[in-house]
Amino acid sequence: MGNKIYLWSDKENQYKANLHCHTTVSDGKLTPEEIKNLYKEQGYQVVAYTDHRKYVPHTELTDEDFVALGGVEVDMNEIRLGKERIRTRMYHINFYDTNPENMAKEKAEYCAADYWNHDAAYVNSYIEKMNKLGFLACYNHPYWSMHAAPDYLPLKGLFAMEIYNHNCELEGMYGYMPQVYDEMLRSGHEIYCVATDDNHNEYEAGHPLCDSFGGYTVIQAKELTYGAIINSLKEGKFYSSMGPKLEEISIEGNELYIRTSPVEKIYVHVRGKNCPHEVAAKGDTLTEARFPLKGNEGYVRVTAKDSQSRFANSNAYFLDKYLAKQEEQ
Ligand SMILES: [Zn+2]
Ligand SMILES: [Zn+2]
Repeated sequence: MGNKIYLWSDKENQYKANLHCHTTVSDGKLTPEEIKNLYKEQGYQVVAYTDHRKYVPHTELTDEDFVALGGVEVDMNEIRLGKERIRTRMYHINFYDTNPENMAKEKAEYCAADYWNHDAAYVNSYIEKMNKLGFLACYNHPYWSMHAAPDYLPLKGLFAMEIYNHNCELEGMYGYMPQVYDEMLRSGHEIYCVATDDNHNEYEAGHPLCDSFGGYTVIQAKELTYGAIINSLKEGKFYSSMGPKLEEISIEGNELYIRTSPVEKIYVHVRGKNCPHEVAAKGDTLTEARFPLKGNEGYVRVTAKDSQSRFANSNAYFLDKYLAKQEEQ
């Protein structure tokens, strides 16, 4: 038996985050301040402000109970918007600023992309420049974007993709995209996944079509500061969810152990087929599962589904890296 390695644990500080949000800076209905208050009331500590095409750092909104991440959502489209918009393929990429103090002037100037260029090589060159300015890049809602594998597999420079987008789910039931995440992982992308709201707040909180509070990311960080949250994003110290909680994912010897809030199903997605899984008896729930690792999994990522068909997803953990760590100890 090797030592226990924690892939995820709820023992450290955890912060609830919405990493995709629109305000009156673009086409959202609420002001940045109203968003802060609304999300704080619902138990969130972090919101990434990602208005369309316009980067605003919003540093004034950060205080000891709340971190406002500066960001922007950039779109790069097949054709000019208009009547054909509903049939147009679009890259939507969220950029999160890792350090708003740095190169502020260049960032304000550079965020304007060539919006009518849907070529993957162009998108990659844009991401590369944004990475150099200090932004983390997240690939948004591929299903809504009408993208297929040839559109997203060539992307480079991403730190994450959206596995769930709540606004897209409400618009067309195309919010949950686990297949794209596995396709990207299997094609060599070592990226994380996030669940987001992409809220525009056309409907008030409590309305069944309100696009807030449907997809969130739980970030484990040393403290609630801008720098600590960014470091945890870079290191993948987070999971994403529509409801269920992931409390522990660990490896001891050749056993993978998972603990969750009460759910109906715990599945482990791996590079291939035959996913290890544990399901509760009808009408019952379970909160833990143990699986022997065979060593050929490639990566493991945990999916838990609750009785309301809401999913929690861990990031993918590439086993070689963790088993090597276990040997070192
Ligand atoms: Zn979008
Ligand atoms: Zn959006």
